[in-house]
Amino acid sequence: MPLGSGVWEHVFAGLYRHMRAANQYQHRLTAQLARFRSAAQAMPDGVVVLDAEDRITWCNATAERVFGLDARKDAGQPILNLVRHPDFGAYVKGARYEEPLVTRMVGMDELMLSIRVVPYGQEEKLLLARDVTQAERLETMRRDFVANVSHELKTPLTVVSGFLETFAEGNVRSDEPRGRKALEMMRSQTVRMLRLIDDLLMLSALESSAAPAREQLFDVERLLAQILDEARVLSAGRHRIELRIARPAKVLGDERELASAFGNLVSNAIRYTPPDGSIVLAWGARDGDGVFSVADTGLGIAAQHLPRLTERFYRADTSRSRDTGGTGLGLAIVKHVLTRHQGRLEIQSEPGRGSRFSAVLPARRVRFAPSAQLQPEVEKLTRS
Ligand code: ADP
Repeated sequence: MPLGSGVWEHVFAGLYRHMRAANQYQHRLTAQLARFRSAAQAMPDGVVVLDAEDRITWCNATAERVFGLDARKDAGQPILNLVRHPDFGAYVKGARYEEPLVTRMVGMDELMLSIRVVPYGQEEKLLLARDVTQAERLETMRRDFVANVSHELKTPLTVVSGFLETFAEGNVRSDEPRGRKALEMMRSQTVRMLRLIDDLLMLSALESSAAPAREQLFDVERLLAQILDEARVLSAGRHRIELRIARPAKVLGDERELASAFGNLVSNAIRYTPPDGSIVLAWGARDGDGVFSVADTGLGIAAQHLPRLTERFYRADTSRSRDTGGTGLGLAIVKHVLTRHQGRLEIQSEPGRGSRFSAVLPARRVRFAPSAQLQPEVEKLTRS
């Protein structure tokens, strides 16, 4: 701006002020736009701005990832040329945007997206995409769980109601051998249902809080002696069962929960080991951690089942599990209890030779009795 004199000085100064105000306004607008963009960029959802012809005006990093776009290269391109998915195309063109479109984007990490179009301005659109993969997975798990529980309860109930019908019709009486057998089967099916309900209640109690209900120091030897007694009752003399304690200790945790976890491992060993097999329960130390392990000479488990054994209702051997009154929830409970105690479950198994399940409790939860002599490793104890 030239410097004028006289009347021009006044005119130029006016122009100068005007120009400066316009500049400041433009700066403010640019800063505001940058702020809006960085807010949209920071959004966890994918955001794409489309013009009236569905061409991409702008998109954030999440949209780049979930739709496989490139904000720089793809600006000005019609989105339907780049995101080729029949449901997506129909939704964007359909102009019925009250409900979001939930669809799996094939080829993009198989993400499940909830997509929503919000029209605004002059026929422009805002395309929003939320990753609902995890929520969908949970929903599928919930559905499967309900289906499994219903199935598990329906089978014994069908047996019981079938027998009740024959009694009601007078086809059989409880004082004749056939009737007594029917009553016995009804009783065992009822016990099975009760056991399932007990396990479900236990799981739901475990899931309702992240931490053990009661933390207390308890004596492992005493607990394991009790579990050994129960194991002998359950086995009814069919197996050789031994308890070996390498190093007495006190454990800090919820005794009832840990008793249930250890008891489940032992009852599995008994149920999956044919008569005359042997079962060794052992407690000891490994690298400062406390380890309770149960080794059996039973059926063993094929390697492909091992990673899934702790899933609810997963069974490697379906018929044996049901025949022996298994609910399919035992190892899920064990895993939950150990996780709540910052511990873990280790499984080694070989079909036809046997299995070893080890519950490992972290050092900070275990107070070993002081001992002068060198103690054998817990794994060695379970080797016969
Ligand atoms: P279940 O009530 O069916 O025993 P669990 O959750 O306790 O349910 O165990 C899951 C599956 O793991 C069982 O169905 C069985 O196939 C397998 N399993 C568990 N423990 C053993 C074991 N000691 N020996 C062989 N298989 C086992």
